[in-house]
Amino acid sequence: MSTPENRPARSIVIAVDGTSGSGKSSTSRGVAARLGLRYLDTGAMFRAMTWWMLTHGIDVHDPAAVAAAAERPRIESGTDPLAPTITLDGVDVATQIRSAEVNAGVSPVSAVPEVRARLLQLQRAVIEQALDGAGIVVEGRDIGSVVWPQAELKLYVTADPAARAARRAEEEGGTDAAAVQASLEARDRIDSGRTTAPLVAADGAVHLDTTPFTLDQVIAHVVALVDQVRTAQPFAERATS
Ligand code: C5P
Repeated sequence: MSTPENRPARSIVIAVDGTSGSGKSSTSRGVAARLGLRYLDTGAMFRAMTWWMLTHGIDVHDPAAVAAAAERPRIESGTDPLAPTITLDGVDVATQIRSAEVNAGVSPVSAVPEVRARLLQLQRAVIEQALDGAGIVVEGRDIGSVVWPQAELKLYVTADPAARAARRAEEEGGTDAAAVQASLEARDRIDSGRTTAPLVAADGAVHLDTTPFTLDQVIAHVVALVDQVRTAQPFAERATS
């Protein structure tokens, strides 16, 4: 018989928003792997959209041109947290989407409402599918505020700008940390200032400043938060306030 004790854990959505390079990707992947959840990197979708524009002669600083093309790229995300993938028109673009051109173009492209509307549909479809299983960790800028406000747990992840630039410069193979910091801050400015779905801490989000912590510490903290959510509140009663 199914009792509260032996019933399988209900599926869960964890929304992870925050600034560029705050450690939210590594945290999200690590938490998903620990808890047997899927993982969706929505930033990779915006980056793939941007790479498509750049390679199809669309001026990424021309919102009307970007809007007119927003339905054209076919973007698919693989949600295994140990090996996430991103393809554009069937081609793996994991490397290309981390290029300097994409870093510079992605925030203006992401500010275009037609781009957001298109990717919102894709993101919600991936989440719906994951809810047939254990659930999913979704990372981005507007997950808890727009994409899935009913998420069981919402996190807002930040880190000191110099710390995040140093981390990102190391990940990118020793690039100049000052230049990386300037690029991260430029993106954060545009992402926070745009009209549609700006980067904000969603209502009810737990704020995590990762600056003084190791990745393992942050993952352990989030796993503990998930345990609290699972035991503290019946799922049906969870509010987003
Ligand atoms: O997370 P990542 O740094 O790869 O995101 C790249 C860019 O994609 C962000 O700077 C932002 O402009 C955009 N983005 C967004 N909404 C999301 C995820 C990413 O606007 N949910």
